[in-house]
Amino acid sequence: TELPADKDETNVTRQVSHACFSYVIPQIPSNPKLLHFSEEVTTMIGLTIEEVETPEFTAVFSGKEILPNTRPYAMSYAGHQFGNWAGQLGDGRAIVLTEIEHNNHNHTLQLKGAGMTPYSRRADGMAVLRSSIREHLCSEAMFHLGVPTTRSLSLMLTGDLVLRDVMYDGHPDYEKGAVVCRVAPSFIRFGNFELFSSQNDLKTLKSITDFTIKHHFPEILKTNKEGYIQFFNAVANKSREMVLHWQRVGFVHGVMNTDNMSILGLTIDYGPYGWLEDYNPDWTPNTTDRENRRYRFGNQPQIVLWNLYQLANALFPLIDEAAPLETILHEYQSLYEADYAAMMRKKLGLSTIQEEDNQLIAILTDNLQLIETDMTLFFRKLSQVKKKESVEKAFTIITDSFYKIEAITTAVQESWLYWFTLYINRLNAEDTTDAIKKQAMNLVNPKYVLRNYMAQLAIEAAEKEDYSILEELHIVLKKPYDEQEKYDKWSTKRPDWAREKIGSSML
Ligand code: AMP
Ligand code: MG
Ligand code: MG
Repeated sequence: TELPADKDETNVTRQVSHACFSYVIPQIPSNPKLLHFSEEVTTMIGLTIEEVETPEFTAVFSGKEILPNTRPYAMSYAGHQFGNWAGQLGDGRAIVLTEIEHNNHNHTLQLKGAGMTPYSRRADGMAVLRSSIREHLCSEAMFHLGVPTTRSLSLMLTGDLVLRDVMYDGHPDYEKGAVVCRVAPSFIRFGNFELFSSQNDLKTLKSITDFTIKHHFPEILKTNKEGYIQFFNAVANKSREMVLHWQRVGFVHGVMNTDNMSILGLTIDYGPYGWLEDYNPDWTPNTTDRENRRYRFGNQPQIVLWNLYQLANALFPLIDEAAPLETILHEYQSLYEADYAAMMRKKLGLSTIQEEDNQLIAILTDNLQLIETDMTLFFRKLSQVKKKESVEKAFTIITDSFYKIEAITTAVQESWLYWFTLYINRLNAEDTTDAIKKQAMNLVNPKYVLRNYMAQLAIEAAEKEDYSILEELHIVLKKPYDEQEKYDKWSTKRPDWAREKIGSSML
């Protein structure tokens, strides 16, 4: 297809109506350089490693050159941000290059940070190296943890400088610009549906809903009222499964606005995300949300439900009956609670269901908050507790996960000994052997997660053109459940210097 003649007009920020997307042209980077790529994503989309290591790859995936017979575009969407209606938004710095098919799977290739689009509002359409490293590393880490997520093919330096901050002395603090290529079957969000519904543009609302069903929910055969209810139900299920995984591994998204909710239930938009280190349900990595803590760890499942209410409202005009949507929304709570209990049982190595399990889980959750306790280390250590263990010995096994040994008071110790009495009793009601239980636990309790300080170390080195930590973390995080002795230093507690210093607004 012919490209618009005037590039400037194409990429100018504007209000757009009756459009699911606008054609755009990526900004030409001055000196693109491939820093890192994912071998798995490369082969997933049908490219070879040799092809990645060519100038053509760097040109295309930095936005310098457009693939023949393709026409890049940015999507329009709206959204609720921090609980408030935000109106029309859109891909402000994301540009879809093309969609491809490989091995019967469809993949959308999207550049993030390749310049302005009609939806950039007052921002520059660019991304900085630190946020791009965080997205590139975390999306792959999440995938290997078994969490539904968008993927990251490549990380490029653009050779251009981007302004994000001005120093206290008034000096502009320029940072290196970067582009990540994200890959997902689709980048459609809850906000895409909210946009047309809010504009009362039912024709486009129906188009995008029918398109989404046809291409991404092929099991739904009808695009009528019945089909739309099935669609909403499927999205509710996928979103619930996604957030359950977040709670399992201790991931805090940080910006769960409806424009950051993938319609496919994929974790999307790695901004100020973070990982729970000490188990604190009130923790959020997002420093702009420290007042209300709307997107705190413990609130994530409820926020998914809140977001589903917004999606239900958006789809309502197509269905015109509240009851079926309300039923799905009302079911969310009980389904989540059942899923959560099942997930926690797995984390505890329990393969049968007992009535007292909920109490066991509730007391554990309280105990984890008595003194600063590293969530990841705790569950990993817990797998070593044997059926015939004494409660005292069991307690010493998990003390390694405490941040301050000196914080252990008699009361803390007693609470844990009590819990271990229940837990060891409970283990003895199971048929499995210690070895099998340990193995099962280690499949759901990761040893390696992308702790905030780890990403920070990779970033600080990369700023000085040392990409070794980035490369090493990418490798370690491919096998988060394995014992990788060589990389043991990445499975320890957060060091003291990293306490709450980082994980701030890293957009
Ligand atoms: P986020 O909080 O990352 O979901 O961003 C909210 C909205 O702002 C989205 O529509 C983004 O596309 C847009 N946005 C964020 N950063 C930029 C940027 N540097 N340039 C243009 N748009 C941006
Ligand atoms: Mg976003
Ligand atoms: Mg973002």
